[in-house]
This record gives sequence, structure tokens and C-alpha cells, in this order.
Amino acid sequence: MSAVSSLSAPAEVSPDFSTFIENFRARLRHVFRRRADADEVSTTRGLEPFMMREVQRSSPLSVFIPEEYGGRGGHVRKCQAVLEAASYESLSLSLTLGINGALFLQPVSKYGREAVKQDIFDRFIEEKHMGGLMITEPDYGTDALNMQTSYAQRKDGRYTVSGTKHWAGLTGWADFWLVTARQEREGGSLGRDIDFFILDQDDPEQCVDVEERFHNLGLYAIPYGRNRVDATVPETHKLEPESMGITMMLDTLHRSRTEFPGMGMGFLRRIMDEAMAHCKDRLVGNTPLFERDQVKKRLSRIQAYFTTCSAMCAYASEHASTDNNLSTSTVSSNSVKAVVTDVMHDAAQSFLQLSGAQGYRLDHLAGRATVDSRPFQIFEGSNDVLYEQISQAVLKDMKKSNENNLYDYLSEYELTSRAAERFQGSLDFEVDDQMPQRKLVDLGRAIGRVVSMDLVIELGDRGFREDLISGSLKVLKQDAEAILDTYQQKGMAGVVEDYMEDSSWLSFV
Ligand SMILES: Cc1cc2nc3c(=O)[nH]c(=O)nc-3n(C[C@H](O)[C@H](O)[C@H](O)COP(=O)(O)OP(=O)(O)OC[C@H]3O[C@@H](n4cnc5c(N)ncnc54)[C@H](O)[C@@H]3O)c2cc1C
Repeated sequence: MSAVSSLSAPAEVSPDFSTFIENFRARLRHVFRRRADADEVSTTRGLEPFMMREVQRSSPLSVFIPEEYGGRGGHVRKCQAVLEAASYESLSLSLTLGINGALFLQPVSKYGREAVKQDIFDRFIEEKHMGGLMITEPDYGTDALNMQTSYAQRKDGRYTVSGTKHWAGLTGWADFWLVTARQEREGGSLGRDIDFFILDQDDPEQCVDVEERFHNLGLYAIPYGRNRVDATVPETHKLEPESMGITMMLDTLHRSRTEFPGMGMGFLRRIMDEAMAHCKDRLVGNTPLFERDQVKKRLSRIQAYFTTCSAMCAYASEHASTDNNLSTSTVSSNSVKAVVTDVMHDAAQSFLQLSGAQGYRLDHLAGRATVDSRPFQIFEGSNDVLYEQISQAVLKDMKKSNENNLYDYLSEYELTSRAAERFQGSLDFEVDDQMPQRKLVDLGRAIGRVVSMDLVIELGDRGFREDLISGSLKVLKQDAEAILDTYQQKGMAGVVEDYMEDSSWLSFV
């Protein structure tokens, strides 16, 4: 740990949001750049105790808590702004806040019982407690609906919940867990629906046991591991779905996916600032890197991603409220999550390329950004699967409306109508609803980019900088067209399973 700065962080937590967020940014800057040694922060696991304590002095999680329980009201615009401020300094910190907010506080606000909410929210605000969500199991990740964690209601009304969960962010740190499980039926089989239970780690009967800690590749500040759950909880700890538990899970996951841009926003802004500064500073052959055309291409893409993410933050602010049911918002939520995480990782890769060898140091922001952003393409729905789901949802709707031509459909569809107009022939083809999975994924990647363009057009209409908007639209359109080009190509490479025979080049020279 390096020297402690003489500059003090602002202490007050202002009720006025603009003052609060400004102070929060200053506090984060102070904690991550002055008090902590940036090199140490990026290469050691966990966070120094003073760091989380300092961050929590601003009570950032109160933005996710409704006003009637003492929070800042749960307005998504404010939640996005907090996530953005955090990810400018640390993607891990932003994900930590995002887990607490979107995967614990929002579902508890919406589906938690009155009997438990006030106490839980008080503990978040006053005692700075934290919470996370356990869905994934060692044998059931993408296939989460077949999870084996089970629950049963006892005669006294309490529930027993048991199973093994892994990769839950904040393993061993969280004070509360939301644990998903299927009901055990007579004879031992499990029901199809999924329910959520709140486990309070201060209660020995509800405590989960950390069996193993993982050495995660990136996101060093967040602990992961494998947990054994054998808990007994009061009836009031079961979330109350409006209809099916699966619908509640989809609503929760779609809301969280829609809110990913908050975490992407500060991350992309930081990469943009650092990459621009580096390219202006670094002379190669006596010329600043910034003067080279290929470098400009990379920087312009990073700016395009920044603008796309801005448009998504604006969209999330107006669509991801807990008042809305997002369980059917497959196309918009999956597009936002998959595209923003793709561009976050691509921006990090470009920043690393532009940084040269120094970017490959473990303590350099570019290398860290590359490994830290990678799992965003995997968790909360693997992007390959999310893109396939986008296509399936669109194809289903096309079939319902008796439409075969993609352009005709997208030019009428509310999420794509304005963007579709900007494509000449490339969307104008009939889709085959029997296409192989890889084509569904390609089509979904293209549709995700058309949806993103529509959000950018909307942000432009509201007065966002015109040059950034037009750069972003160019990049998204080029990417969508390149993907559609691949989609149209015939001939699919197969996998040769038994490839050993006649496959050593050395025998042919
Ligand atoms: C950093 C990190 C944080 C996480 N945080 C949490 C958390 O807080 N809470 C939680 O519950 N879980 C969390 N997870 C777990 C995460 O959600 C799962 O890893 C994810 O759902 C994928 O499950 P899996 O790892 O079992 O992979 P698998 O299900 O084995 O899938 C692996 C890959 O196979 C491919 N694939 C899978 N199914 C299909 C298919 N049908 N068609 C085509 N391809 C397919 C995809 O490429 C996929 O990425 C986290 C994971 C990571 C890495």
C-alpha cells in the first residue's frame, strides 16, 4: 500500500442527487487513485478494508432502495449514474454495486414481503450490508432452469433450502443471499418453477458454507467460489412472484441485463480518455500515434462504443423501472446486454493493442480491462445464447404476423423501425425459420446492432452531440452489415472429431 494522500475525501452525503454524485466521484477518485496504490489495487485480490468502507460512506446502494424505506427512490437514472461513476475507477467496484442493486435490492423491493423489507433496507443503509444472487450450480449454468437446489415447506411454515451453488459474486462477503431453488415434490422429483429465498448470513440457520474459493482470472476485487446451502428460513423470506416464479426470474434478469450499460459507461469513458491521452503522448517514429489512420480507426470505434452505451443508459433509465414487468423483453434486454458487453471487451482489446507491451503488464489498465470485461460476455446469459434467443423471439413474432422479409418486419418493429430505414438492401431478404443455430446467432448479433442503432438515433434526436452520434451509427451499421454478410454465406465448416489421421503437416514435406 502506498503513501496516504494529504487530500481528504468529501465527507458529506448530500440529499441533492447532483451534489451526491459529484461527491461520490470525488471520493472514488480519492480512494482509488490517491489513497490506494493503483498498481496494488489491480494486482491483489479483494479490496483493502478501507476502500469499501470509504465507498460505503457515500451510501451508494441507497439509490436502489425505495424512498418509503429510506432510500433515494430506486430511480434507474440514478442507479445508472452510480454504476457509471464506479466503473470509471473500477469495473469490479461497479459490478459489486450492480450485483447488490440489480440482483438483490431490486428483486427484494419488488417481490420481497413487507415483513422483512424495512429491516433489510435499514441494514444496507445504516450498517452497509451487502447482498448477492445465487443461481448457477456446478452442473447447471446456462441450463439454470434444471437447477437441482431444492426447497420444501416444513409443518411450522418455514422452508428448508439445500443445494450447491457456485460463481456467485461476493462469495463469503455478502450479508444476504437470494438463493434460487425448485420445490421438492412427493417422491423427491422437483417442480418446474423457480423460487427465490432470502438467506440472512447473520442467522446461523441461514448461513451458506463456502467450500472453495476460486482463483478468478480477472475482477480481482470480487470473491467467487463454491457454496453449500443447507438453510432453514422463515416463510417471510420467500419472494412473492406476481404469477410464476420463472416470470419473476426473467423480469429480474432482463432488468439487470438492461442495466448493464451503467457498468459499461464509466468503463468505456475511462478507456476512451486513457487511450486518447496515450495516443497523443506516444511517439512512434517521431509521430504521435494519434496521427496514424489505423489508430484513429481504433479510437473512433471506442468513441462509437461510448456513444452506443450512452444511448443504452438513457434507454435503461426510462424502461428498467421495477414498476415495469420486463419478463417478455427478450429482444431489448438481450440486445442491450450482449452488445454492450461485446463493445466493452472490444474497446479493452483495442486499448491494449494501442498501449503496446506496457498494456500487457498486470498492473496496466488496458490488460486489466481486457480480462475484467471478458466474463461480462458470459455471465447473466452467455452472449451466444442471448443472440440466439433474440433471433428466436423475432422469428416467432414474424411468423405470428405472417411476415418473411426481415426488412419489412424490422421497419415496422418498434425497437428497430428508425434504424432499419438506414439499411438499403442488406436487410431485404426472406428468413428461413429452420436455419442452423450458428445462423440464428449471427442474425441475433445483427439484430442486436440494429436495436442499438435505434437507441442511438433516439439519443441524437434529444440533442446528444451530433458528431458522436453519426460516428456511432456508422460503426454499428458497418458491424451489422458485416455480420449479415457472414450470415448470408453458404457452406458451414463442420467439426472433425477424429482428426488425428493425415493431419500432421510434417508428413507432407
Ligand atoms: C465472473 C463471473 C461472475 C458470475 N456471477 C454470478 C452470480 O453473481 N450469480 C450466479 O448465480 N452466477 C454467476 N456467474 C455464473 C454465470 O452466470 C455462468 O457461468 C453462466 O450462466 C454460464 O454457465 P456455465 O459457466 O455453467 O457454462 P455452460 O452452461 O457450461 O456454458 C458454457 C458455454 O457453452 C456455450 N453454450 C451453453 N449452452 C449453449 C447452447 N444451448 N447453445 C450453444 N452454446 C451454448 C456458451 O458459449 C456458454 O458460454 C458468474 C460467472 C462469472 C464468470
